[in-house]
Amino acid sequence: MARANAAYYAARDPFADFTTAPEISQIFGELLGAWAAVVWGQTGRPDPVLLVEAGPGRGTLMADALRTVARVAPDFAAALRLHLIETSPRLRAEQALRLPHASWHARLEDVPPGPTILLANEFLDALPIRQLVRVAGAWRERHVAGGRFVDLPCACDAGDAPDGAVCEMGEAARDWTAQLAARLARQGGAALIIDYGYAQPQYQDTLQALRDGKPVSPLVEPGTADLTAHVDFAALAAAARMQGAHIWGPAEQGRFLHALGLQQRIETLARHHPARAADIAAGAGRLASASGMGRLFKALAITASPDPPPGFSGQFSRSPHSIIATSGRLD
Ligand code: SAH
Repeated sequence: MARANAAYYAARDPFADFTTAPEISQIFGELLGAWAAVVWGQTGRPDPVLLVEAGPGRGTLMADALRTVARVAPDFAAALRLHLIETSPRLRAEQALRLPHASWHARLEDVPPGPTILLANEFLDALPIRQLVRVAGAWRERHVAGGRFVDLPCACDAGDAPDGAVCEMGEAARDWTAQLAARLARQGGAALIIDYGYAQPQYQDTLQALRDGKPVSPLVEPGTADLTAHVDFAALAAAARMQGAHIWGPAEQGRFLHALGLQQRIETLARHHPARAADIAAGAGRLASASGMGRLFKALAITASPDPPPGFSGQFSRSPHSIIATSGRLD
């Protein structure tokens, strides 16, 4: 699966197959930019600071975030050094059009050391998983052979579950998060991970493939469809905590965005662009509503310091919506 997805991201335009939050509404990246600016203040305003995005796609999220940062936090804008983690040459080229001053890396461990604020939206769901399947009272591991799934005996134990149950092991996402948390705990900073997934462990097959916006079999010709699986947030949180970092959430995306000032931002943009008011509200609604992305998608923050970052329960001194509600620019 890992190789199939690398081939996929390298060769196809993934955005023909699925739509992500920053492509739906500019408000998503703007609020994340405000989040990063506030967190920079909470971390003692390190200068320089690395602003890192993992899996930046078309670069839309970061472009929207930087526009907000330049406006509301010019000190942060001056201190930040932009680093992007991206394996696809094709997407790197697209990112360079919107983010000409970035440095690119293939892996987190290649990013230079220093205090870091990292954003990752729909990145971890693209990493490979293993699936264990309960068959006749025992766990087997699911493999692909000859274009089919085959469930082979294994020495694995995923607890007691009825026949047919599927246990997903997101080791790549877990190890990546542990590495990130260890870095933050040692060098300072914070990370915001947003993805679709579940807050409590579950026995469910969530492997899915999308091609041209439609679900297809995960066994279609490798490299021609986007393969994803839901993210196990409890496993990520536990892995990060083990490294000595502080964990916040997961919070449902809808609640999180509202806590950052989604509504105020919709109103400001709509006031400046009355003819587009309905579109603006519809896009933002899709990000936050329970029937859209508001519930399934979740936000998890990892911080070196014990102060709660914006959007998660707890006190914080400067609310992002008060600093970005004022500009009505649509891009
Ligand atoms: N964050 C973007 C794109 C999400 S798609 C958005 O919200 O629109 C996943 C992104 O992660 C793509 O940019 C893809 O090329 C990148 N990616 C996937 N697997 C990766 C890996 N193992 N290492 C680095 N980047 C990867």
